[in-house]
Order: sequence, then C-alpha cells, then structure tokens
Amino acid sequence: MSDLKKRMDEQFEAFVFDAIQKKDIDLFRQEFLEFHPYDQAKFYVKQEKDVRILINSYLTPAEMAELFHNIDVEEQEDILHDMEPAYAADMLAEMYADDAVDVLNELQKDQVVSYLTIMDNEAAQEIKDLLHYEEKTAGSIMTTEFVSISANQTVRNAMKILKTEAPDAETIYYLYVTDDEERLVGVISLRDLIISDEDKLISEAMNDRVVSVSVSEDQENVAKMMKDYDFLALPVVDFQRHLLGIITVDDIIDVMEEEASDDYSKLAGVPEIDSSDYSSISAARKRLPWLIILLFLGMFTASLIGRFESALSQLSILAVFIPLIAGMAGNTGTQALAVAVRGIATGDIGQTGTFRILKKEIGTGIIVGLICGILVMITVNVWQHNFALGLLVGISIFLTVTVSTFAGAVVPLVMHRFKIDPAVASGPFITTINDIISILIYFGLATFLMNYLI
Ligand code: ATP
Ligand code: MG
Repeated sequence: MSDLKKRMDEQFEAFVFDAIQKKDIDLFRQEFLEFHPYDQAKFYVKQEKDVRILINSYLTPAEMAELFHNIDVEEQEDILHDMEPAYAADMLAEMYADDAVDVLNELQKDQVVSYLTIMDNEAAQEIKDLLHYEEKTAGSIMTTEFVSISANQTVRNAMKILKTEAPDAETIYYLYVTDDEERLVGVISLRDLIISDEDKLISEAMNDRVVSVSVSEDQENVAKMMKDYDFLALPVVDFQRHLLGIITVDDIIDVMEEEASDDYSKLAGVPEIDSSDYSSISAARKRLPWLIILLFLGMFTASLIGRFESALSQLSILAVFIPLIAGMAGNTGTQALAVAVRGIATGDIGQTGTFRILKKEIGTGIIVGLICGILVMITVNVWQHNFALGLLVGISIFLTVTVSTFAGAVVPLVMHRFKIDPAVASGPFITTINDIISILIYFGLATFLMNYLI
C-alpha cells in the first residue's frame, strides 16, 4: 500500500474512533460514510464485537449492505452472527441478489431459511431463485437487478424508465430490450441512448445482435467471453432466450481470481487450496492420494536405475550426475507445462493452434538444451578431466531438455483434447515422466559409450 494511503487510513480510523467514543452518531456518519465501502469494511472487521454492534445501530441496513459485500467471505459468517437477525435479514435484502447469494452459500441450510423467512418477500424470492443455480455456472454469479425495456417505445420514454429504475440496478450502462414475453431481443448502451434522437423508437436505436450467455454456462467461459468482447456486463438467458439476469465485470474479476488459484493448486496436485478450513489432517488427506501414486512412480524410477547397476558399478561417477540430469528434465518440463496450461486456460492456444505451440516449444527446447548441454560438457571436462564423460553428460542434458520441454507441452495439450482438465496435477505427473525419460537417455547412452568412458 502506498504511504499516502496508509496515512489517510490512519487519520480516518482516528477520526471515526473518536466519534464512536463520543457516541456522536452524526459525527460518525459524517466521517464514516465519506469513505469507500472497502475502507469502511476494513475498519469494521477490525473492531471488537461491542463496537461493531454499536456501528450497526448507526448505519441503515442499506449502508451496511454496501460495506458488507466488501468483507472477505471467510469473515462474513461470524460477523453476520453478531448482528440482530432482523437487521441482518434487512441488510441481505438490500444487497444485490448475487452478492447476498454469495453470503448465504457459506451458511448452514437452516440459517439461510431463517434469514429468508424474516426478509421482505420480494427480495427473498429473488434470492431463492438464484440459490437454485449450480455453483460455478453463469446462473450462480448473475444478478437480477438489471434494466430492461420494451422495444416499441421511444428513446424519451426509455430515459424516463431508466431514471426510475437506476437506483436499484447493478449497472445502468446497458439497457436490455425485451419483447412481450420477456425474451431478449436487443441492447442499447447508455451512450447510444443519450445520443439518439428522442423520438426514435428503441427498436431502431438498439443493437439487435446481442451476445448473451446461457444460465448453465461454466463461469470460466463467461469470463472468457467478457474478456473477448470487452463488455461491462453480459446478459444471461435461458433456453428460450428469456432474460434472467446480468453478470457484471466486477463479478468476473472475482471469477478470474478464483479460477486462477484453482488452476494453480491443481497444477501442484493440491485440490482446492481452501484457507478457511485449513486443518493439517484435512490438508494431508487432500494431498496424500497424489503423493502416494507419485511415490510408486518414483519407486519405478528407482528400479529403472537399478537395472543399470552394472554400468554404475563399472563407473560409479555416473551416479553423481543423476540429480543434475533428472532435475533439469523436471525444471524444463515444468516451464513448458506452465506455458501450455496457461495458454489453454486463457483460450489463446485454441486460437494459435496446437501445432504451432508444439513447434515453438520444440524449438525452444533445442536451443535451451544445446546451450545447457555445451556448458555442462565444458564444466565436466574441466572438473573430471574426462572428455567422454563430459560428452555423455552434455549430450544427455541436450536430449533430456529437448524431450522434456516437448513432453511438458504435449501432455496438457493431449489431456485437453480428451477433455481432461490439464490443470489437474499435471505438474507432479510431468516431473515423474521426465525423470523416467532422462534416466533412460542418460544410462542408455552411458551403456553405449561405456568402452570410451573407462
Ligand atoms: P464506451 O465505449 O464509452 O464505453 P459504448 O456505448 O461504446 O461506450 P461499450 O461498452 O463500448 O459502450 O459497448 C459497445 C457496444 O456494444 C455498444 O453499442 C453496446 O450497445 C453494445 N453492447 C453492449 N452489450 C452487448 C451485448 N451483450 N451484445 C451485443 N452488443 C452489446
Ligand atoms: Mg465503446
């Protein structure tokens, strides 16, 4: 955080705290509400329970709703429990339905029901409708607070409608145009609306090629579309194209963060890094299955080395370079893997084409392998005064790096072809495959060159 922001935060806290101690509601509201809800939330979560309860009594449920959706999901539950149930229910009703659903999804079923029962009926219904949608689909992240207008009215009239609906809409930047049966037929941006002739019909001013997503669409695909089209919001429709909700760009930022951390943990063979329920036992249980599989694959690698026992006993110096060669294989494979998985996740690979990526990775592998191989060859020669050994290790590095880079790229691409999520633990998998490949190359060559080595 910048120093300036830090100093401002400290000043803000001092002022607000002072107002709380004086129990001066007006002063508190004057200071507190001037700040961004994110800063308000930061202050709020830091307070003890009794201070928070006091703040609740100073703020309306609507003001609290603004603040509350800026609190981390992990902390929301506890904070909600400290609130009067009626106040909490009012606050949830004031939140945008999608944000309220995010909060409720973290709670026990019976608590959700009790909040929904005390809540204002209309808001409760909206939230209930959203709670049905499966997690990680467009339906689960959309909100129902959008502006929709019918096509057969004038621009002037549409502006009037916008004015009355604006206070409650999550975004007013796009107006979605629907027919008599609530089916999405067009869209018009606020800019287009303002610059259009007031007597024109919406049906003439609107854009009737609307890009939309289906409610059951995976949120990752929604994020991709949002990124490709650069819209600030996307409409969500059912199979008959009825307009159900919108997804705004701020929700997509959260999705991207969630998906990126998902991919990252899967890549490391740790399903769902979930810091909220992080006990050693549950973490161990999640990591162990993969580690045990890898353990046995590692044994296989060990037995492979065992098969070259005679080569090793003839020339024990060979053992010295095993970690170097296997390590380089692992490193280069992981680099290529990261590039490929990232490319698949962002959709770039779909556009560039699989073969171009592979060709590029092979090229990179050859260049990197050649340089590393030559460096190693010279170093081993100087160190061991054994030209044949230097040549062996150098060529092994060259071949290993080239093949590993290729494997690192090709494995996730093949998995992707067969609709397996390549992010699922391909990291440890690649490392192990590359260990095996590198051992085979190294000892194969060593056996072949044995006469020159000793
Ligand atoms: P600005 O560029 O200042 O943001 P704008 O009117 O160009 O204003 P954009 O967000 O750039 O607004 O949107 C570009 C165009 O895309 C607008 O004409 C808008 O009507 C249209 N549009 C918005 N949403 C959709 C959609 N879901 N499908 C198709 N077109 C859309
Ligand atoms: Mg534009």
